[in-house]
Amino acid sequence: MYMTIFERLSAAGYKLTAPRRRILDVLRMSEAPLTALEVAARSGVSVASTYRALALLADLGAVSETSDPCAERAAGQTALATAPVELAAAAVDDARGRRYAICTATGHHHHFTCRACHATLDVSSAALETALAEIEQATGVRIERHDIALGGLCAACQRTARRSAEDDTMTEERA
Ligand SMILES: [Zn+2]
Ligand SMILES: [Zn+2]
Ligand SMILES: [Zn+2]
Repeated sequence: MYMTIFERLSAAGYKLTAPRRRILDVLRMSEAPLTALEVAARSGVSVASTYRALALLADLGAVSETSDPCAERAAGQTALATAPVELAAAAVDDARGRRYAICTATGHHHHFTCRACHATLDVSSAALETALAEIEQATGVRIERHDIALGGLCAACQRTARRSAEDDTMTEERA
């Protein structure tokens, strides 16, 4: 894993610095995706540096960056009015519910985010990539990048939802 990230960093002209390594360790140890402020607090790296490192690692595909559309809608400006200027960028991200997780997939892939537990899953589909190539051929455009974010309920949360629905039915039948 480190090897892969290290290779990707050096190929892009970057080094696996101590702060970047600490940030990766924090993400690897966490069971759930973390916000930039949580990563900064746990790694002891400054908020500004954490924010830059996460953006770089996400660019290189070592880390997934997902945002919660519900949190994004609910996010107000209240917290930002009092935040120091250097914290503002990261605070905006946290307010939008942007979270980071380590990528288990090494090649090109996309992310599924569970709206209930915020777990992210690396997903890839050859058929999906083929469909994009077909779009290129049909339209004559050259697709240089694509962002496909999948959202919904993960398998575990679907089971929890089913169980509580069954419990409700049983309560109703007894009543
Ligand atoms: Zn990923
Ligand atoms: Zn879930
Ligand atoms: Zn793709």
